Formats: sequence, structure tokens, C-alpha cells
Amino acid sequence: MAKYKIIFDREACIGALSCNVVAPELWKLAEDGKVDLEGATYNKETGKFELIVDEKHINKHKEAAKVCPVLNVILVEEVK
Ligand code: SF4
Repeated sequence: MAKYKIIFDREACIGALSCNVVAPELWKLAEDGKVDLEGATYNKETGKFELIVDEKHINKHKEAAKVCPVLNVILVEEVK
């Protein structure tokens, strides 16, 4: 089964919450008005949050990336 890496640039997130509308169980509203990517870990080298997912949730993450109004805040990469 294919694996995907979701990369979330929380610094650049503006709290538009479009991701939360399409996948509230994965992109959770945080106290600062932005979102937290459920289960993600912070990568100190890149300054971004990362989460490896399988095909089960990928469509929801792709949809979140598509509706996010800020370019490259949510990236979805296939893990080889
Ligand atoms: S849609 Fe993009 S900018 Fe808006 S809260 Fe989600 S990640 Fe942040």
C-alpha cells in the first residue's frame, strides 16, 4: 500500500480553516486560531510538521491541500 507524507507549514498557516471544514477529524482547530495536523511531528530541520499516512486518509488530505488558500502550506508527497 502506498504511503504519503503530509507536510504542514504551520508558520505560514493563516487560520483560514478550509482544511478543517473538509477534514475536521484530521485538521483540528487549535487555540491560536490555526489548526493542528492530528498525529503530526515537528521537524526541527525544516520547521514544518510531518505525518506519514496510508491510502486510507489520503483523499481527505489532498482535498485539504487543494482548498487551503495559502500556497504550499499543506503539501502531499508520495513516499517511495
Ligand atoms: S486551510 Fe491552510 S491556511 Fe487555512 S487553516 Fe488550513 S492549513 Fe491553515
